[in-house]
Amino acid sequence: MTAEQDVFLLNQLAQGLASEDEGRRWFRQLASGEQRDVLSKLWLFAAQAGARESDVDAAIARAKLKPSFTPCVVLRNGRLKIQAAKVIDLPLEEREKSFRLLLALFQVADERRRNEECRNGCTHWWHAKQ
Ligand SMILES: [Zn+2]
Repeated sequence: MTAEQDVFLLNQLAQGLASEDEGRRWFRQLASGEQRDVLSKLWLFAAQAGARESDVDAAIARAKLKPSFTPCVVLRNGRLKIQAAKVIDLPLEEREKSFRLLLALFQVADERRRNEECRNGCTHWWHAKQ
């Protein structure tokens, strides 16, 4: 998959246009380095969409993860930017949970942006058909 296809799928996933199962299956078959790139991208998208520390609990609930799972504990543990970098670097066995968590964080932030800033039209191509 090319980088552009990755970005497209991530945005489809973020808006519920692609199923979570589909997203997880796709993520699982990626090589380790690609998975890490996807986590970095998701965090970048979440940050661009204005994700904040107060969004983390909503993201955990949305991803249907237990707050005691390692990526959740790490992400809640301080400044979002620093903690997100730690989540991206967690061991391989935490990757899938980290993917679900960062995707949900992007969804929470993107929904708020769409409701607050994009109501009267915007230039985010993935909001164009809303
Ligand atoms: Zn927009």
